[in-house]
Amino acid sequence: MVLDTATLRVAFGLMALVLVLLFYFSAYRYTRSPYSGWWCLALVFFLAGSAAFLLNGTPHQWWANPLGNVLLVLGGVAVWAGARSLRDLRPLRWLFTGLPVVTLVASAIDHPGTNTWSGGPVFLAAMCLTVGLASRELWRLEPGYSRVRVPMAAAAAGLSAFYFGRLVYFLLEGPNGPTFVTYFGSAVTTLVTMVLLVVVSFSMAALSTEQQTRALRMVATRDDLTGLLNRKAFLDLATELMSDRSVTPGTGALILADLDNFKAVNDTHGHAVGDVALQAFAGACRDTVRSTDLAGRYGGEEFFLLIPGATAGRAEKIAEEISRRLAEVPTAEGLQMPTVSYGVALYDAGTSDLEDLIASADRALYAAKSLGRNRTVHSDPRG
Ligand code: GH3
Ligand code: MG
Ligand code: MG
Repeated sequence: MVLDTATLRVAFGLMALVLVLLFYFSAYRYTRSPYSGWWCLALVFFLAGSAAFLLNGTPHQWWANPLGNVLLVLGGVAVWAGARSLRDLRPLRWLFTGLPVVTLVASAIDHPGTNTWSGGPVFLAAMCLTVGLASRELWRLEPGYSRVRVPMAAAAAGLSAFYFGRLVYFLLEGPNGPTFVTYFGSAVTTLVTMVLLVVVSFSMAALSTEQQTRALRMVATRDDLTGLLNRKAFLDLATELMSDRSVTPGTGALILADLDNFKAVNDTHGHAVGDVALQAFAGACRDTVRSTDLAGRYGGEEFFLLIPGATAGRAEKIAEEISRRLAEVPTAEGLQMPTVSYGVALYDAGTSDLEDLIASADRALYAAKSLGRNRTVHSDPRG
């Protein structure tokens, strides 16, 4: 069976068009998730690139052939940008301009009017690179992200390997070599790409929804002034962490922190400056704790930290470190960052009630205040 490339390209174009429309109206317009936006854009590039190649063999080939190469490379870059957006990373600008420009130049100087493979090696290498980078981004997503992460990363890796094979055989044999035509020619590529586009589009719907859910969860669990966990999220996560022995050792420390004489900061410098001090304290917490610890805003100028595995000594070091960092934050004229008092309560496998733990840290905090502030006090393990 010989499949004619032009017919396949038309079929591919129609399929891509249907996917764009389905995607735009069912996923992107509804979720506005960056990933589905990038995917729509990638499909448009693939569609337009394939359309440009339909002009091969016509008098328009000299401009349509390089344009087709550039559009397909842009599609590859958009796929990569979409994969990056899942990790909240921005696309690197040089890939969006640099790769297409290099592809265009390579194609333009390679007799595009008569050579349907103008700039072939550069185009193939650029596709291998962008799709390979997309696959790498997908692998690097945290495993909990979604079940579709693996098939999508594998699909992208497969496509990247396929383009690598095309590049190798193109260099070895040229575009008319027997292996290249049989396994890596335009007809096979169009078929492979069609199958992969369907796989990816299908998985995409799940990923876009997940990305949106994550964004909503982020808003729902964060304190909007400091970006730390809000009270409810902290309590939920802390309960979960303390009871899950598979991730934490079953012991650890809860630290309650309260900024000293904070009312005076507000009274002297105004509420806005007070807010800046709260944000600086949150930054000091974030810089000090590990990603497996929890830091949250209890309310007002009070914060809590849950440090699984920490001993009393380690908890005290963490408190000192946070205060040291806060004191080092550069401030506007006249403002001195407030000092902080800490109350520490340790928990172990027998601790079942988080409220009790917080209450005992609170008593320790109260003692730290009574003893003159700017210090850490440990709760009495018996009380
Ligand atoms: P102490 O050392 O005993 O803790 O004294 P304090 O002044 O820090 O404690 P107090 O409870 O008297 O005052 C807390 C102040 O924190 C009062 C309140 O206006 C201020 N505050 C609470 N939430 C915010 C906020 O979101 N932004 C700002 N700027 N101030 C806040
Ligand atoms: Mg207070
Ligand atoms: Mg205070």
